[in-house]
Amino acid sequence: MSDHDIDPTSPRMAPKPEVTKIAGRELKPSTLMMGHGYDPVLSEGSLKPPIFLTSTFAFPSAADGKRHFEGITGKRPGGADGLVYSRFNAPNQEILEDRLSVWDGAEDALSFSSGMTAICVLMLAYASQNDVIVHSGPLYAASEGFVAKVLAKFGVTYVDFPAGATREEIDAVLKRAQAQADEQGGKVCMVYLESPGNPTNALVDIEAVRASVDAAQLDCPIAIDNTFLGPLWQRPLDQGADIVVYSLTKYVGGHSDLVAGSIAGAKKWMDPVRMLRNTMGGICDPNTAWMLMRSLETVELRMSRAGDNAAKVCDYLAKHPKVEGLGYLGMIKDARQQDIYDRHCKGAGSTFSLLLKGGEAECFRFLDALKIAKLAVSLGGTETLASHPASMTHLSVAEGRRAELGISDNLVRISIGIEDADDLIADFEQALEAV
Ligand SMILES: *Cc1c(COP(=O)(O)O)cnc(C)c1O
Repeated sequence: MSDHDIDPTSPRMAPKPEVTKIAGRELKPSTLMMGHGYDPVLSEGSLKPPIFLTSTFAFPSAADGKRHFEGITGKRPGGADGLVYSRFNAPNQEILEDRLSVWDGAEDALSFSSGMTAICVLMLAYASQNDVIVHSGPLYAASEGFVAKVLAKFGVTYVDFPAGATREEIDAVLKRAQAQADEQGGKVCMVYLESPGNPTNALVDIEAVRASVDAAQLDCPIAIDNTFLGPLWQRPLDQGADIVVYSLTKYVGGHSDLVAGSIAGAKKWMDPVRMLRNTMGGICDPNTAWMLMRSLETVELRMSRAGDNAAKVCDYLAKHPKVEGLGYLGMIKDARQQDIYDRHCKGAGSTFSLLLKGGEAECFRFLDALKIAKLAVSLGGTETLASHPASMTHLSVAEGRRAELGISDNLVRISIGIEDADDLIADFEQALEAV
């Protein structure tokens, strides 16, 4: 530490307790994102957290080193109470994790180097040989592949059910999963959801899944991939989920310039995953953690604007004669889906599917004619993206399964960004003329 302008005995330089409430009013996440979990006094007064590029941390004393390792190795419950080694924990990642917890109302969060690292470490932490994972469908293709191909190598099987299933249907699925687990000599180790499903936008009834799991007296966590609607438009922990999962690469990062992931929930659900992350690695790097903190300061602004833009664009597209339909949460046609939406969602998001009259050829002409929207997979960035799932993200899905999931050849997936809405409408208008 340099001694520029710093008098360590001055009361101005003493660490300050964080303000989370003013006059009994709990501060909102968008306010907390500017400072939560970080005290400038501890870093030379630097208003923003420095990026801590270090692999290891000096212990104040040997006894402290021992105590920290007891936390890291799980010999003492409650986890590490100090910084040890950057595969386990580090300042930028800890501040990021504190801030991520705020959005979902979670006790604890863990950051990862990608969404898929978060999902794989989470599943590995809970699945033992001969266990059964129950999951909604469709899942992000790599998640589905990890369950069906990688976990299968260790004798883990799965039972899946369509997003939108009713309480009775979920009850029946859990019964089937329990029977399968009994037969294999294992247990149902996790219920894993993704809502809305990609690219169909079908919603899962999280409250019904919670009620079903409780009624079946299953002692396993309900985890949910909330990448498409979180953290602004859906808070699944409020609906009874135990663990919320993110690809931070999408809306949270929000600028299509990084790859990262996270999970959040009660400490008791996070602890086994933290232990496995300590062993395997996969924690987010400090530079990416810093970028994500910058992104979190504007996540509400960006998502609100993207959501408003998507509503305007969909209003326009819904009336266009070359459009057969829209898979947009702001225009649900099914009463059951609308009921789930009303109970679970605070906004319709900005990612939707556009069904054109025609097939692949019409979609390709449309995509190739777009001038503002970029032709790329991914979503949740500041820029509008468009892609063709049947020939791109879901090409590896068998044709029969694709049809079952509603991924037709005339489906274009669009993620609306924060550009000017009328400019976007003009772009879609000229591209539809080219079809
Ligand atoms: C992108 C995505 C993932 C994977 O995240 P990465 O950060 O690319 O590893 C998982 N789930 C959903 C819903 C996604 O969109």
